Amino acid sequence: MQDSLAFIVIVLVVIVLAALVFFVTRRPERREDDAAADYAAGLNYLVSGDLNLALRKLKDAARKDTNNIDAYIKIGDILRSMGHLDQAIKVHRDLTARSSLTPVQRLQILRALVQDYEARERYDLALQMVQKILAIKKDDLWAKEKELQLLEASGEWEKAADIYKKLSKLKDDFRKSRLALYKVEQGKKVRQAGDEKQSRVHFREAIKIDPKCAAAYLELSDSYLRENRPQEAIRALEKFMAAAPEKADLAFSRAKELLFKIGEFGEIENVYQEVIQRSPENWAAYLALAEIKEKKGELDQAINLCQQILQKNPDYRPAREYLIRYFHRSGKDQLAVEQALALINTEQNAKLKYRCTRCGHVESEPFWRCPQCHQWETVEGV
Ligand SMILES: [Zn+2]
Repeated sequence: MQDSLAFIVIVLVVIVLAALVFFVTRRPERREDDAAADYAAGLNYLVSGDLNLALRKLKDAARKDTNNIDAYIKIGDILRSMGHLDQAIKVHRDLTARSSLTPVQRLQILRALVQDYEARERYDLALQMVQKILAIKKDDLWAKEKELQLLEASGEWEKAADIYKKLSKLKDDFRKSRLALYKVEQGKKVRQAGDEKQSRVHFREAIKIDPKCAAAYLELSDSYLRENRPQEAIRALEKFMAAAPEKADLAFSRAKELLFKIGEFGEIENVYQEVIQRSPENWAAYLALAEIKEKKGELDQAINLCQQILQKNPDYRPAREYLIRYFHRSGKDQLAVEQALALINTEQNAKLKYRCTRCGHVESEPFWRCPQCHQWETVEGV
């Protein structure tokens, strides 16, 4: 009797122990399976672009397995792309406090934080995170490129130039034109702070770096004009057209305004002549010269310039429009009418516009850095 009781007790104890072992070992496995399934589902939703469901599944995964660092990183990333920037920063920043991170995870978290702060327009904090990345991985190309973007975004043009020099050496893609544009930006910043004179120092430095830097000459000219020094303003444009006749068009509208303002045409006539000589298909230069001839009362020469254009390019409407006016003004109305009829038969030519080759953004004025995608020197005339 005693024996069988002991036996029953032993059997019961064994069963309880077995159940306990089963319970203890089995349950976490299922939890982990669940967590892994949630994580996989979250990634799938992320790939298919359903951010709300992705966020929910990844949160489930992270709750069931708090060591799933990648789930947390992605939760933060999704929050950022939804515009919940403070929440994204909190999720990512909390991760940095963990002591068990692998070096790769730490880098991923820092990169995420850089993007959070950048979206938040806290460029100072974003730059701090970039420095942390570079402290771990000295030649991290992503971090270096980000550093440059952040310095540009915060208007730190001098530092941006330094980083650009190093980065372009790494990538073997150095352009002095970019350094010149940084100088121009520096000049614009100084001018916005009220120092017109110092701004011109920067514009001149830009020209020294890149003698064909259109932006520098145009800014220099505008600066002189703001100080009511039209002679020097026109001089800057002349220098530009002589240095870069292939880009001379960029200065035409300013030159035209200035010339009519000061009413004297001395050197600019020669400059236009030279532009035409060096780029003989620059029709706008012919017309700019024709306008000066017209102003000086030399209508025959103005007419001759228009005819030179139309011989080579009969579809160039502006030349015909000018010609109509010039014929009419010199009393040759019959010829003016002929030109007007020819004009009606000419294909419509759109006005010149400037387009970003990277993102397709279009402006009526030329730009050196695309206002939409922020890329440099992507402009083309269309
Ligand atoms: Zn663009």
